[in-house]
Amino acid sequence: MFYMPPYQSKPKGGLKMKVMLDAGHYGKHNKGVVSGYYESVQMWKLHKFLKSALEGYGIKVDITRKTLEEDMHVELRGRAAQGYDLFLSLHSNSYDSSNPDPEADAPYMCVLQDLSWTSIDDISKGLGHKLGETIQNTIGTKQKYKIYQRKADKDRDNNGIMDDEFYGVLKGCRIVGVPGLILEHSFHSNERACKWLLNDNNLKTLAEAEARTIAEYFGIIKLPEKVSKKFKVTALALTIRKGAGANNGVAGYLVKGQIVDVCEISDGWGRLADGRGWIGLSATEEVKEAKPIAIPFVQKKVKVTASVLNIRKGVGISYSKTGVLRKDEVVAIVEEKDNWGKLSDGRGWIGLAYTEVFKQETKPAEQPPVQKKVKVTASALNVRKGAGSSHEVVGWLKKGDIVTIIDEKDGWGRLIDGRGWIGLKYTKEVK
Ligand SMILES: [Zn+2]
Repeated sequence: MFYMPPYQSKPKGGLKMKVMLDAGHYGKHNKGVVSGYYESVQMWKLHKFLKSALEGYGIKVDITRKTLEEDMHVELRGRAAQGYDLFLSLHSNSYDSSNPDPEADAPYMCVLQDLSWTSIDDISKGLGHKLGETIQNTIGTKQKYKIYQRKADKDRDNNGIMDDEFYGVLKGCRIVGVPGLILEHSFHSNERACKWLLNDNNLKTLAEAEARTIAEYFGIIKLPEKVSKKFKVTALALTIRKGAGANNGVAGYLVKGQIVDVCEISDGWGRLADGRGWIGLSATEEVKEAKPIAIPFVQKKVKVTASVLNIRKGVGISYSKTGVLRKDEVVAIVEEKDNWGKLSDGRGWIGLAYTEVFKQETKPAEQPPVQKKVKVTASALNVRKGAGSSHEVVGWLKKGDIVTIIDEKDGWGRLIDGRGWIGLKYTKEVK
């Protein structure tokens, strides 16, 4: 018998599915072979990522413990799933020290014992197969996932039947009638798997894949994606519907060429930002706003050392020529690959072996203009066109004249009024 949960028949607007997640251990427990790995810490992260990924499907998710430091009895964690639709306890595995196998990397899905009086075992096992496959494929384990059932070696509930769960969390969720499973995300005693699990981005990917698998298993459709896009109607006329689907009532029309703002996308339907309803996006095309041309970031400048240097379409001499550079030309390179450089002007690539890094000549800091007043001490002083007595005389100053000098060169000073230069040895600075 396969139990059909109510949310499966009503994926939209029906009952909200509720999941209880449990991170396997608290504090810093169960070191991996890769330094820095603790099962407790990484599985705490993973269950948080899984929580938000499941929430993306509109699933209500709670966790058994508030903080990583908090410990909780295993059976109580399973019992915490009372009233929920699913219980998952997240772990990574380790080989038995008495029988070490550092190569072991199979994801183990520990599922409920086969039970005749309920279907929670069917869900546990059915989902276990799906999640096992997902985890195996996402991590890329060498070994195939395993479905694992472990009976307690005593009659824990004293009902005379030896069918009780060995694992406390599964015992707990079974008591409250909730399908549950323990996910052993490969082995932290396997170096490759441990390294993989130590990467938070990998954990995010894993969480998303698991959430997708769970949602698919329970027939839950992902919540519409929030967007901010423009679409242009390409059909002659386009019906606006009250919901995302052709079976929904008509709410209006759009005509060819109209451009509308869409704020949500769901299964090929877009919700109009103005609130009028939904349109089928297959009868539209997205209007992409022209992006401003980005000014390439110049990483460095190089000077051509070969007499002629070919510019090529790509990295390597097998690419066709798009132009040439001549010796001593200076160009900006925005990207480098295999000792080839991409020109900032977009013409192509050049072999950097025929160039040298161009160092901008460092100009001495510009001198602030000299500004000083001088008094003529000679009885008469020629003003010349340039700084030197060979330059043409363009005027003269008399003794006692005070003038302002704005430039000095080889003992000559340039007059601020632009008339020319005077020999400063015939003057005295006026403070
Ligand atoms: Zn564990």
